[in-house]
Amino acid sequence: MIENIVLSMKDDMVNTLMEMIPIVAISPESGGKGELDRANFLEKKLREIGPDEIIRVDARDDRGIIRPNILARIYGENREKTIWIVAHMDTVPEGDRSLWEGDPFKPYIKDGKIYGRGSEDNGQSLVGALYAFKAVKISGIRPRNSIGLIFASDEEMGSRWGLEYVVRNYKFGDGDEFLVPDSGNEDGTEVEISEKGILWFSITVNGRQGHGSRPDLSLNAHRIANEIAVEIDKELHVKYDARDDIFIPPYSTFEPTKREANVQNINTIPGKERFYFDCRILPQYSIDSVIEDVKNICARVERNTGATIDFSIVQRADSAGTTDRNSEIVQKLLRILREKRGIEPKLVGIGGGTCAAILRRRGFPAVVWSTLDPVEHSPNEYCKIDNLVKDAVVFALLYVT
Ligand SMILES: [Zn+2]
Repeated sequence: MIENIVLSMKDDMVNTLMEMIPIVAISPESGGKGELDRANFLEKKLREIGPDEIIRVDARDDRGIIRPNILARIYGENREKTIWIVAHMDTVPEGDRSLWEGDPFKPYIKDGKIYGRGSEDNGQSLVGALYAFKAVKISGIRPRNSIGLIFASDEEMGSRWGLEYVVRNYKFGDGDEFLVPDSGNEDGTEVEISEKGILWFSITVNGRQGHGSRPDLSLNAHRIANEIAVEIDKELHVKYDARDDIFIPPYSTFEPTKREANVQNINTIPGKERFYFDCRILPQYSIDSVIEDVKNICARVERNTGATIDFSIVQRADSAGTTDRNSEIVQKLLRILREKRGIEPKLVGIGGGTCAAILRRRGFPAVVWSTLDPVEHSPNEYCKIDNLVKDAVVFALLYVT
């Protein structure tokens, strides 16, 4: 019955998304004016629904610009626990306008798709969640747990003034659980519960340049760099060899990638060499331990060769761990997808990068799921109306069952 309420609101969902897209919400860091106008538009929609609580957790960023965050709740029989759906209001800029068939901020419908910047990322889920929330209110069902919506700012630029700010300034219940519908696949079968840690580092070998015929007078940085790269490659793969089948690939990866240009000619022995590794590390391993191993290899080769070797971190993002597959939100979502969508969902881990990590890091179960085509951030971004409505049904069921 809640399904029918959601389905009956299809036109309202489409209209709300079409109304929202022209209210541009690009981050000031990307040259926009922020999310405030869009937030006020959404708060008005929320007030019309009339939930038990609407709270603003607005931040003021470095530039003094207000970065709004809206939280809304409908109380359940148990008010201690809330099932939250988190969506972000901000969008990336439109990019090269000549690649768009229409105006990115004047949405239009073609072949069952709404075109416009932010239509999919994250407009589809945001509007879907809003109407799932509204459907619960209209149904008069008092859900077992409280249900909540979070409309956050600043996701595209790292969430500092968005979800990160919210978790520091709003007290969630210990048992709260979260759905972040901001990533997914075309048929909605992927349920993401974990991200690998990311480590990018560079190694610079300083030897001594010389003539190709006189290695006796030189210290060949190229050869030493090769030696280190092979050592790292071998040692890390052996030591960090765990497998976890939710990931693709199901193991940690340590890939030598970029290598900077060295000498111009063949008959010069290079005196300096810099290369990089891109590592994606399973959540059970500590990145500190990987770093220590790499540093030890560098020290060993340094001692053996007399070269000076510098290690430097380019990027590091520790994994936030894996959401328990037996947590209520994961199990409930899997069941709804099986029963109502007739699909066989699979738990997945990814290479990194969603704001669910902010929640997992604080110990909250957080699952990332939605049904979408991979058009986020591209020209002619669209949202399939079918996905908008069908996902809204799943959100509503997640709220009330
Ligand atoms: Zn997004």
